[in-house]
Amino acid sequence: VRASPAAARLAINRERLVADLNRLARIGYTERGSVRRLAFSVEELRARQFLTHLLQRAGIPFRFDGIGNLIGRLEGRDPGAPAVVLGSHVDTVPDGGKFDGSVGVVSALEVARTIREAGLAHRHPIEVVVFVAEESSRFGISTIGSGVMTGAVDPARLLALADAEGQRLGDILLRMGLTADDLRAARREPTEFHAFLEVHIEQGRVLETAGRPIGIVRAIAAATRLRVEAVGRADHSGATPMALRQDALVGAAELIRFVEAACREMADPPVVGTVGTIRVEPGAVNVVPGLAVLGVDIRSTSAAAKAAVAARVEAEARRIGAARTLEVRITKTMDEAPVPLHPDLVALFEHLCRRDGIPYLLMDSGAGHDAMKMAAATRAGLILIPSRRGISHNPAEWTDLDDVARGADLLLQAAAELAA
Ligand SMILES: [Zn+2]
Repeated sequence: VRASPAAARLAINRERLVADLNRLARIGYTERGSVRRLAFSVEELRARQFLTHLLQRAGIPFRFDGIGNLIGRLEGRDPGAPAVVLGSHVDTVPDGGKFDGSVGVVSALEVARTIREAGLAHRHPIEVVVFVAEESSRFGISTIGSGVMTGAVDPARLLALADAEGQRLGDILLRMGLTADDLRAARREPTEFHAFLEVHIEQGRVLETAGRPIGIVRAIAAATRLRVEAVGRADHSGATPMALRQDALVGAAELIRFVEAACREMADPPVVGTVGTIRVEPGAVNVVPGLAVLGVDIRSTSAAAKAAVAARVEAEARRIGAARTLEVRITKTMDEAPVPLHPDLVALFEHLCRRDGIPYLLMDSGAGHDAMKMAAATRAGLILIPSRRGISHNPAEWTDLDDVARGADLLLQAAAELAA
C-alpha cells in the first residue's frame, strides 16, 4: 500500500480529541480517582450513549447491533465496498484508568470526524465501533462484543454466563430487549470488512524503556495454562525423618523454578511463564504437605515455542514425581492460539511512521484486545502508545497526551490510505 499526498495533509484536532477523552473519563469516575464502567453497567451504557451524541454532532449516522456494539458509519463513494473499521472499548476493570480502551474509541471517532470535515473522498465506508464488554472482569471472558461480531463465541454459552453477584448476562441483555437471536444477527461476514485498525495503550513498559512513542504490533500472545497436582503424603512434621517423606510442596517448588528456567532459555521467540497460584493441603505448619496444586500460565506469540515449553514443563513434572514418589496429575485448562496481525498493515504503519519521521518499535502484545477477535474476520492492525511506568488497570494509568495525539494521527493516516 502506498500513501497518497492527499492523506498526508490531513491532521486530527488534538484539542477536541483530548477534551472528549476527558469528558468520557468523567463517566464512572470514582472518589478513588479511578474509572469504573463495568461491562453492561449503567456507566458503560452512559459512555456508549455519550459516544452517540458525539457521532450525531459530527454528522455520522450510527446504529447498535444485537449485543450493543455501537457502530458509526461514514459512507464512501462505493456503498457496496467493504468497510475500514476503527474501534476499541469503553468498559473498564473495577478500578481502571481513563486511557484503556477509551483512547482507541476517541481516536477512531476523531479520525472519522476529521475525514468528514476535510471532505476527503474515499471509496470504502469508514466505521467507528465501540465494542461492549472487552474486559473479562465482570463475566470472566474478554472481548465479548468483538467475539459476537465475528461469530467467535456461542450465543447460548454467553447468555448463561453470570457475574460475581449471580446476575446472568442473558437476563441483563433481556432487560435491554436483546435475545440469542439478536446476538446471532450481530454476526458479520468477513466480506463486510476491508480492514480493522485499533489504537490501544501498551499496558507495559516496553515502549517507555525503548523511548519510542509508537509500537506497531506484529502478533498478540496467547496463553496455555496447566493445572499441576502433586499428591504426596501428609505426615507429622516432627515424627517423619527427611528420608521417609513424600513432600508435595517441595516437589512443586522444584517445578516452579523449572518454569522460570525453561522460559528464560526461550529468547527468540520469547516465552513467558508464571506460576501465579498455589494451593497446599492440609496447610498446617506442623504437617508435611500432602497435596500441592499449581496454576501455570505460559504465553508466547509463537504457538510452537509455547507448546515446546509446556511439553518440557509436563515432562519435568513427571520426572519430579518419579524422583520424589509423588503422584502427578496434569490438566491443560487453556490452550489459545497466538494471533498474528496482518503484514499489510504492519507495513503500512511502518511506511507512514518513516514518512512522517516518527520513531516506532516493531513489537508483540502480551495483552489481548478486540483486534485479536477482528483478526479472524479481516486484516487487523494494532498500534500501541506508551503507558507511563507500564501502569494499567489502575487509576494511576497515564499516557502522555502528545503520544495520544500521535497514535490518533497515525490511525488517521492509515485509515485515509486504506479507505481511499
Ligand atoms: Zn483495553
